[in-house]
Amino acid sequence: MAEQCSFCGNRNLTSKTTRYIHQHNGELLFVEQVPCLECEYCGEQYFDIGVLKQIEADHRDIAEHRKQPTRFVQVAVQEFERRVSQ
Ligand SMILES: [Zn+2]
Repeated sequence: MAEQCSFCGNRNLTSKTTRYIHQHNGELLFVEQVPCLECEYCGEQYFDIGVLKQIEADHRDIAEHRKQPTRFVQVAVQEFERRVSQ
């Protein structure tokens, strides 16, 4: 994994877990507690290639009904409409 943020050059990257949103053929999968390194300065997150491959495989299995996700959530969708500010 990165030793240095390739976005801002900062060298202080912290290990943490985060929610990763994966897209596959227009379907979304929220994956919770995904390990990553996060830049303390700009917040850019770095994921191990093995972690990303596992998420991709899990999403494929869920999409093809070989695997059940942990749970389902309902998500509200809003199209952005710019309001005229006075
Ligand atoms: Zn950074």
